Amino acid sequence: MIPASVRSLRIEYAIRDDVVPARELEKRGIEVLKLNIGDPIKYDFKTPEHIRKAAAEAVMNSRSEYSPSEGLLELREAIVDKEKEYGVDITTDDIVVTTGVTEALMLIFAAALNPGEEILVPGPTYPPYITYPTFYDGRPITYRTVEEDGWQPDVDDIRKKITPKTKAIAVINPNNPTGAYYGEKVLREIADIVAEHNLFLISDEIYDKMLYDNEFISPAKIAKDVPMIILNGISKVYLAPGWRIGYLAIRDYENSLAEIREGIMKQARARLCANTPLQLGYLAALKGPQDHIRETMNRLRERRDYVAKRVQEIPGLSVVIPEGAFYMFIKVDGCRDDKKFVLDMLREKHVLTVHGSGFCPIYGKGHFRIVNLPPVDYLAKAFDRIEEFMRDWKRAH
Ligand code: PLP
Repeated sequence: MIPASVRSLRIEYAIRDDVVPARELEKRGIEVLKLNIGDPIKYDFKTPEHIRKAAAEAVMNSRSEYSPSEGLLELREAIVDKEKEYGVDITTDDIVVTTGVTEALMLIFAAALNPGEEILVPGPTYPPYITYPTFYDGRPITYRTVEEDGWQPDVDDIRKKITPKTKAIAVINPNNPTGAYYGEKVLREIADIVAEHNLFLISDEIYDKMLYDNEFISPAKIAKDVPMIILNGISKVYLAPGWRIGYLAIRDYENSLAEIREGIMKQARARLCANTPLQLGYLAALKGPQDHIRETMNRLRERRDYVAKRVQEIPGLSVVIPEGAFYMFIKVDGCRDDKKFVLDMLREKHVLTVHGSGFCPIYGKGHFRIVNLPPVDYLAKAFDRIEEFMRDWKRAH
């Protein structure tokens, strides 16, 4: 056997790892109800027609060329305009269009982290915030977000965890997996810490327009004196996760990010470019009608409220009602092994969720994550099964 690299074998990705046993069940002809993956297209959502048309036209017009490594200029112009609406002052030179936010994270962590250097990420978090810093020999350090406080960041915990090796603080707002939305006060407090310690902020805004009641506030507007990298893309708000288009935008302060910018740009050039025709799809998304967003949120609200009601009725379960995105991070009283819990539920009741410790072994344990993306009748079927499972589980624990 030719050995693989240690770093590649270290990679874990809970959201997809739990899928493997589900596939085994499906191979045996068993119907598995899936509440595991943050992909609206898997349920009854569709990429809006005008966006699909623009992408199809780009393909038909043979827009099959390599685009500039930093992305098509007209798309970057549209991104500048979008960010301007949030009070963010950047130019087209500050943007790199990427193969999704996930690629942007790879570029950022690879550019920012020398071996042993640290990045503070929310706990629980979207798993690549753990995977990629580790992959690049850095150290992701999770800061606490507090369930009893609506999963808001514990700012004192962030402060305590800063060391001479800390390079950046990441904020995911609204958050995956908790659905928490961070308002102006906490963003300002985090930005103050960033400024005080000469760090930079990573602001993952992929769910920016998926808020149930609030208007999104950009940390770049609140804190003009803090270097930051803003992340966003087509996957969630524009319902096209498989297109793999996103961007990073460098909002610098006093040239603090000059070298990291160069590190990112060098990598961007080495990987040529993001998918060209689908960049034109994203352009249409940003420039075209936005009506689908309200419609999406109305559906998600009904589904969120339904899940909240069911969870409340099941002894042993509780959930903080999310303010944004489409995830619900459900607590199981007295659950010591959430991975076993999720796998047992899959095996016995054929409902697939994701174990909480996959999002953070410290702050995510004892939970499981579901998506409130499916229609109510699908959710009803799934929660009937979860209810039955909990009855047995409670008896045994
Ligand atoms: N960032 C967060 C917080 C996410 O939850 C996700 C997907 O679930 C992504 C980024 C992925 O973004 P993309 O599809 O643009 O790679």
